[in-house]
Amino acid sequence: MQTARSERETSFVRDGKRSAVMLCDICKGLAVDRTPPGSDGVKINCPTCGNYAIAGDVLDKFRKLTIEERRRALEKAKARLSLGRPLITRIEL
Ligand SMILES: [Zn+2]
Repeated sequence: MQTARSERETSFVRDGKRSAVMLCDICKGLAVDRTPPGSDGVKINCPTCGNYAIAGDVLDKFRKLTIEERRRALEKAKARLSLGRPLITRIEL
């Protein structure tokens, strides 16, 4: 049994793509960075917040918000989208 050891890795491969562990931009918990190379936004899989994306043009602004405001933006993005990954854009901020 070596599962405990592998949890300490900072990156791993899933679905054939390299995935990096990062801190969630909303809850600051451990999350998986699923941003495709060359993308200006971010795509995050968070066990707490779920899967979401932030558009590149609002990333700086989003990171200056309070955690409560970020959560509200994610809720708005989820409400706007019935299927797939919610994308936080300037509409939500
Ligand atoms: Zn989160």
